[in-house]
Amino acid sequence: GSRRSNCRLTTANPASTMKIVLATRNPHKFREITAILGDLGVEWVPYSTLADAPVLKEEGSSLRENAAAKAEGAVAFTGCVALAEDSALEVDALGGAPGVRSSRFLGEGATDDDRIQEILKQLRTYPWHGRTTRFRCVVAVAQPGGPREFAEGVCEGYIAWEPRGTAGFGYDPIFYVPEYRQTLAEIGPALKNRISHRAKALEACRGIL
Ligand code: IMP
Repeated sequence: GSRRSNCRLTTANPASTMKIVLATRNPHKFREITAILGDLGVEWVPYSTLADAPVLKEEGSSLRENAAAKAEGAVAFTGCVALAEDSALEVDALGGAPGVRSSRFLGEGATDDDRIQEILKQLRTYPWHGRTTRFRCVVAVAQPGGPREFAEGVCEGYIAWEPRGTAGFGYDPIFYVPEYRQTLAEIGPALKNRISHRAKALEACRGIL
Protein backbone atom coordinates (compact mmCIF):
# COMPACT_ATOMS: atom_id res chain seq x y z
CA GLY A 1 0.00 0.00 0.00
CA SER A 2 0.94 3.67 -0.05
CA ARG A 3 2.32 3.49 3.47
CA ARG A 4 5.10 1.28 2.18
CA SER A 5 5.70 2.75 -1.22
CA ASN A 6 7.12 6.02 0.18
CA CYS A 7 9.67 4.14 2.22
CA ARG A 8 13.12 5.05 0.99
CA LEU A 9 15.04 2.42 2.92
CA THR A 10 16.53 -0.53 1.15
CA THR A 11 17.46 -3.50 3.29
CA ALA A 12 18.32 -7.14 2.81
CA ASN A 13 14.66 -8.17 3.14
CA PRO A 14 12.30 -8.26 0.14
CA ALA A 15 10.56 -4.95 -0.60
CA SER A 16 7.25 -6.62 0.32
CA THR A 17 8.35 -6.95 3.95
CA MET A 18 6.85 -4.07 5.86
CA LYS A 19 9.49 -1.96 7.54
CA ILE A 20 8.92 0.03 10.70
CA VAL A 21 11.60 2.47 11.76
CA LEU A 22 12.11 2.36 15.50
CA ALA A 23 13.16 5.77 16.73
CA THR A 24 14.96 4.96 19.96
CA ARG A 25 18.62 5.13 20.88
CA ASN A 26 18.10 2.97 23.96
CA PRO A 27 19.11 -0.62 23.12
CA HIS A 28 17.07 -1.97 26.06
CA LYS A 29 13.93 -0.33 24.71
CA PHE A 30 14.71 -1.62 21.22
CA ARG A 31 14.97 -5.17 22.54
CA GLU A 32 11.75 -4.89 24.55
CA ILE A 33 9.72 -3.34 21.72
CA THR A 34 10.83 -5.88 19.12
CA ALA A 35 10.18 -8.74 21.57
CA ILE A 36 6.70 -7.48 22.52
CA LEU A 37 5.67 -7.02 18.86
CA GLY A 38 7.91 -9.82 17.56
CA ASP A 39 4.99 -11.77 16.13
CA LEU A 40 4.00 -8.97 13.73
CA GLY A 41 6.51 -10.25 11.19
CA VAL A 42 7.73 -6.79 10.21
CA GLU A 43 11.30 -5.66 9.78
CA TRP A 44 12.36 -3.33 12.59
CA VAL A 45 14.88 -0.76 11.42
CA PRO A 46 16.80 1.01 14.18
CA TYR A 47 16.79 4.71 13.33
CA SER A 48 20.03 5.30 15.20
CA THR A 49 21.97 3.04 12.81
CA LEU A 50 20.95 4.90 9.63
CA ALA A 51 23.77 6.86 8.04
CA ASP A 52 23.53 10.63 8.52
CA ALA A 53 20.32 10.37 10.52
CA PRO A 54 19.72 13.66 12.37
CA VAL A 55 19.58 13.40 16.17
CA LEU A 56 15.95 13.35 17.30
CA LYS A 57 15.30 15.83 20.09
CA GLU A 58 13.17 15.03 23.11
CA GLU A 59 12.90 18.35 24.86
CA GLY A 60 9.13 18.60 24.99
CA SER A 61 7.08 18.99 28.13
CA SER A 62 5.04 15.82 27.71
CA LEU A 63 5.61 12.19 26.82
CA ARG A 64 3.18 12.58 23.95
CA GLU A 65 5.08 15.54 22.49
CA ASN A 66 8.41 13.73 22.73
CA ALA A 67 7.10 10.48 21.24
CA ALA A 68 5.45 12.39 18.38
CA ALA A 69 8.58 14.45 17.65
CA LYS A 70 10.75 11.32 17.46
CA ALA A 71 8.29 9.40 15.26
CA GLU A 72 7.74 12.37 12.92
CA GLY A 73 11.48 13.01 12.69
CA ALA A 74 12.07 9.42 11.66
CA VAL A 75 9.30 9.58 9.05
CA ALA A 76 10.74 12.79 7.63
CA PHE A 77 14.15 11.21 7.21
CA THR A 78 13.08 7.80 5.88
CA GLY A 79 9.64 8.12 4.30
CA CYS A 80 8.69 4.96 6.18
CA VAL A 81 6.25 4.15 8.97
CA ALA A 82 7.95 4.96 12.27
CA LEU A 83 7.28 4.11 15.90
CA ALA A 84 8.68 5.96 18.89
CA GLU A 85 7.96 5.96 22.58
CA ASP A 86 8.69 8.16 25.54
CA SER A 87 8.41 6.84 29.06
CA ALA A 88 8.66 8.10 32.59
CA LEU A 89 8.76 7.11 36.22
CA GLU A 90 6.22 9.05 38.31
CA VAL A 91 6.82 8.96 42.06
CA ASP A 92 3.77 10.20 43.98
CA ALA A 93 5.80 11.35 47.01
CA LEU A 94 7.84 13.55 44.67
CA GLY A 95 4.81 15.15 43.02
CA GLY A 96 5.16 12.91 39.96
CA ALA A 97 8.91 13.51 39.49
CA PRO A 98 11.15 12.61 37.77
CA GLY A 99 8.34 12.27 35.19
CA VAL A 100 9.02 13.46 31.65
CA ARG A 101 12.56 14.26 32.80
CA SER A 102 13.24 10.65 33.89
CA SER A 103 16.24 10.15 31.59
CA ARG A 104 17.63 13.65 32.26
CA PHE A 105 17.10 13.52 36.05
CA LEU A 106 20.37 14.67 37.75
CA GLY A 107 21.82 15.77 34.41
CA GLU A 108 23.93 14.31 31.63
CA GLY A 109 26.74 12.73 33.61
CA ALA A 110 24.55 10.77 36.02
CA THR A 111 24.22 6.99 35.87
CA ASP A 112 21.17 4.78 36.44
CA ASP A 113 22.59 3.98 39.86
CA ASP A 114 23.00 7.68 40.73
CA ARG A 115 19.35 8.26 39.83
CA ILE A 116 18.22 5.23 41.82
CA GLN A 117 20.20 6.30 44.90
CA GLU A 118 18.78 9.83 44.71
CA ILE A 119 15.19 8.57 44.61
CA LEU A 120 15.85 6.20 47.53
CA LYS A 121 17.37 9.10 49.47
CA GLN A 122 14.43 11.39 48.82
CA LEU A 123 12.01 8.66 49.91
CA ARG A 124 14.05 7.61 52.97
CA THR A 125 11.43 8.72 55.50
CA TYR A 126 8.43 7.45 53.55
CA PRO A 127 6.57 4.35 54.78
CA TRP A 128 5.50 1.67 52.33
CA HIS A 129 2.06 3.14 51.58
CA GLY A 130 3.74 6.45 50.74
CA ARG A 131 6.02 4.89 48.13
CA THR A 132 3.49 4.42 45.32
CA THR A 133 4.78 4.98 41.80
CA ARG A 134 4.04 4.18 38.19
CA PHE A 135 5.78 3.84 34.89
CA ARG A 136 4.01 5.52 32.01
CA CYS A 137 4.73 4.95 28.33
CA VAL A 138 3.32 6.82 25.35
CA VAL A 139 3.87 5.29 21.92
CA ALA A 140 3.49 7.33 18.75
CA VAL A 141 3.12 5.79 15.30
CA ALA A 142 3.60 8.11 12.34
CA GLN A 143 3.45 7.57 8.61
CA PRO A 144 4.11 9.70 5.55
CA GLY A 145 1.12 11.89 4.88
CA GLY A 146 -1.00 9.94 7.32
CA PRO A 147 -2.39 10.63 10.76
CA ARG A 148 -0.32 10.26 13.86
CA GLU A 149 -1.63 7.75 16.36
CA PHE A 150 -0.92 7.35 20.05
CA ALA A 151 -1.29 4.67 22.68
CA GLU A 152 -0.53 4.80 26.39
CA GLY A 153 0.31 2.17 28.98
CA VAL A 154 0.76 2.36 32.74
CA CYS A 155 2.36 -0.05 35.22
CA GLU A 156 1.70 0.55 38.93
CA GLY A 157 4.12 -0.28 41.73
CA TYR A 158 6.07 0.83 44.80
CA ILE A 159 9.56 2.27 45.18
CA ALA A 160 11.43 -0.62 46.84
CA TRP A 161 13.48 -0.16 50.05
CA GLU A 162 16.64 -1.01 48.14
CA PRO A 163 17.62 -2.07 44.59
CA ARG A 164 17.04 -5.74 43.76
CA GLY A 165 17.66 -7.77 40.61
CA THR A 166 19.90 -7.44 37.59
CA ALA A 167 17.56 -7.74 34.58
CA GLY A 168 16.05 -4.81 32.70
CA PHE A 169 17.41 -1.27 32.79
CA GLY A 170 16.96 2.20 34.25
CA TYR A 171 14.80 2.27 37.37
CA ASP A 172 13.79 -1.42 37.15
CA PRO A 173 15.77 -2.48 40.29
CA ILE A 174 13.69 -0.18 42.54
CA PHE A 175 10.32 -0.69 40.82
CA TYR A 176 8.51 -3.23 43.02
CA VAL A 177 5.50 -4.97 41.47
CA PRO A 178 3.16 -6.01 44.30
CA GLU A 179 1.41 -8.78 42.30
CA TYR A 180 4.72 -10.62 41.86
CA ARG A 181 6.46 -9.46 45.05
CA GLN A 182 9.55 -8.68 43.01
CA THR A 183 11.12 -5.73 41.27
CA LEU A 184 10.99 -5.40 37.48
CA ALA A 185 14.70 -6.23 37.52
CA GLU A 186 13.95 -9.53 39.30
CA ILE A 187 10.99 -10.82 37.30
CA GLY A 188 12.95 -11.09 34.05
CA PRO A 189 12.23 -10.07 30.47
CA ALA A 190 9.48 -12.55 29.58
CA LEU A 191 7.18 -11.42 32.39
CA LYS A 192 8.21 -7.77 32.22
CA ASN A 193 7.26 -7.75 28.54
CA ARG A 194 3.76 -8.91 29.46
CA ILE A 195 3.01 -6.49 32.30
CA SER A 196 5.09 -3.37 31.68
CA HIS A 197 3.90 0.11 30.70
CA ARG A 198 5.67 -0.45 27.37
CA ALA A 199 3.92 -3.78 26.80
CA LYS A 200 0.50 -2.27 27.50
CA ALA A 201 1.07 0.72 25.22
CA LEU A 202 2.41 -1.47 22.41
CA GLU A 203 -0.40 -4.00 22.70
CA ALA A 204 -2.81 -1.10 22.28
CA CYS A 205 -0.96 -0.20 19.06
CA ARG A 206 -1.43 -3.49 17.31
CA GLY A 207 -4.61 -2.30 15.61
CA ILE A 208 -2.79 0.72 14.16
CA LEU A 209 0.09 -1.33 12.79
P1 IMP B 1 13.17 8.46 27.65
O1 IMP B 1 14.27 7.78 26.94
O2 IMP B 1 13.16 9.93 27.57
O3 IMP B 1 11.83 7.86 27.32
O4 IMP B 1 13.48 8.22 29.18
C1 IMP B 1 12.81 7.32 29.92
C2 IMP B 1 13.64 7.03 31.14
O5 IMP B 1 12.75 6.50 32.10
C3 IMP B 1 14.69 5.97 30.88
O6 IMP B 1 15.94 6.50 30.59
C4 IMP B 1 14.68 5.19 32.17
O7 IMP B 1 15.53 5.82 33.09
C5 IMP B 1 13.25 5.33 32.62
N1 IMP B 1 12.48 4.19 32.13
C6 IMP B 1 11.58 4.15 31.13
N2 IMP B 1 11.11 2.92 30.97
C7 IMP B 1 11.72 2.16 31.87
C8 IMP B 1 11.66 0.77 32.16
O8 IMP B 1 10.95 -0.03 31.54
N3 IMP B 1 12.45 0.37 33.16
C9 IMP B 1 13.26 1.21 33.87
N4 IMP B 1 13.37 2.48 33.61
C10 IMP B 1 12.60 2.98 32.62
